[in-house]
Amino acid sequence: MIAVPRRFLAFKRLRAWLNAGQVDALDQGMERLRRGEDAEVAVESDDEIGRLAGSFNLMAAEIRERERRITLLALHDPETGLGNRVSLDHALAELSPGLGSRLFLAAFGVDRFDHIRGAVGYALAAQVIRQVGERLAAFQPDGAAARLSADVLGLAFAADDAADAQRRVETLLAGLESPVQLGRDIITVALTAGIAPVGGDPAGAVERAGIGLSRARAAKRKLALYDAETQGDPAANLALMSGMLWAIRSGEIELFHQPKYDLRARAVNAVEGLVRWRHPTRGLLRPEFFIPMAEETGHIRTLTDWVLRQAIADQAAMARVGHEIEVSVNISGRLLGDRDFADFVDRTVKGAVGKLCFEITEAAVIDNPDLALELLERFRAAGVSISIDDFGSGLSSLSCLKRIRGEELKIDKSLIAEVTESQRDALIVRSTIDLAHGLGLKVTAEGVETPNAFQLLTAMGCDRVQGYLIAKPQPLNELLIFLREDGASRGYG
Ligand code: C2E
Ligand code: CA
Ligand code: CA
Repeated sequence: MIAVPRRFLAFKRLRAWLNAGQVDALDQGMERLRRGEDAEVAVESDDEIGRLAGSFNLMAAEIRERERRITLLALHDPETGLGNRVSLDHALAELSPGLGSRLFLAAFGVDRFDHIRGAVGYALAAQVIRQVGERLAAFQPDGAAARLSADVLGLAFAADDAADAQRRVETLLAGLESPVQLGRDIITVALTAGIAPVGGDPAGAVERAGIGLSRARAAKRKLALYDAETQGDPAANLALMSGMLWAIRSGEIELFHQPKYDLRARAVNAVEGLVRWRHPTRGLLRPEFFIPMAEETGHIRTLTDWVLRQAIADQAAMARVGHEIEVSVNISGRLLGDRDFADFVDRTVKGAVGKLCFEITEAAVIDNPDLALELLERFRAAGVSISIDDFGSGLSSLSCLKRIRGEELKIDKSLIAEVTESQRDALIVRSTIDLAHGLGLKVTAEGVETPNAFQLLTAMGCDRVQGYLIAKPQPLNELLIFLREDGASRGYG
């Protein structure tokens, strides 16, 4: 055995005593690290313990950095650096207890985002979203902003009540819509918003604000408030959709028809099929409510197949009592990307006894223009006319006249509403009619409610008018009575 000098033993004890403080510090640092707090310890010596303390600090810093990156990834949208849906859910859960019924969520959708993405590419389109998101955060610094999906931004904010929330969102929309500068390019952005009260259910708020947004878009409005009374909860709506097939079979879904009055023939020679759903417990459901849902869930195909068959059957019923009537059907954009639907159309329209027409919007063509235009040509080849619906509403604009070949142009009711009061609207309508005629299209004005509008449109050379002045959308049996009486030529002007 080697004898250890007494002086050396005393030195080791002294060192052990000196390091005890550092060992304690390390121990506490470890505990702080576990709790996720700042864990750095002082390095007081250059021996093993000191080096250990140094390595510990390095490890703690690396863990912190990794955590920061993980949190960033979990709570932020990598493309724009804005908060993501998870961060918004956190914010809602945090704000909800304090604000209660004063907490609202708005979903801002960038209109025609696919169009922007197609024009400038994915990366620059994300810059548009980022800039709009930054504006949102700047306008409402006490709210929480996040990107909810490719083209939708969310904002949690406080308001006195629903009316106040709507006013605030209106103001926000005005500010958010100023053009976005991308390098040397300037991109104009248009937004639509859905608003939902967060209430006691922060988890479902994003979905409800999204439903508000779909509703606003379907109704061609700038914003819509999610209304639990008429829209029910999302789970119930999903159940509603799964019941659609049954609803069709059991006759809950009905096809109404609204006459189109021909100004030259002075008679109704066409109708538009508009679907209605008489729900046994939820009452009469408007298409603006369930069509967007059917589009989202894929049920629109089943519904449109039925509508087309019904339109053909109703046309035959009208023909049997001597009315030769063109029937039009609204075709959602979803179906303009569905070749199988085009096959169905080919087979089905062969059975029609008269002319059929498909009403489409330009927005419906934008998602996949090549395929949509190909299918539209197939429909025309099968003998179906194409009508450009909602012209002047933002869903169809001048550029569609360049791309879509059709037979009819329908001027949106928003332009017709004030055609007799607003000189500007009158000028736009008159120019649209001339332009459409120049392109060989017949013009139908929709939403004609007054004799004055009827007279003005007649004078402008419009071909057909549709609206409450002539008749509301009605079931087939009422339409047949109407057609009989219309034959006795009543005057509308
Ligand atoms: P839309 O194609 O623009 O149909 C015209 C809407 O204007 C109809 O609303 C009609 O009832 C309403 N309307 C007609 N005349 C007047 C008027 O004088 N004044 C006013 N203020 N409104 C008038 P409706 O029936 O509620 O349909 C709403 C939308 O739902 C339709 O807009 C159409 O986009 C969609 N839709 C209806 N049926 C179908 C369908 O079978 N398939 C698809 N994809 N969409 C459908
Ligand atoms: Ca239509
Ligand atoms: Ca329309």
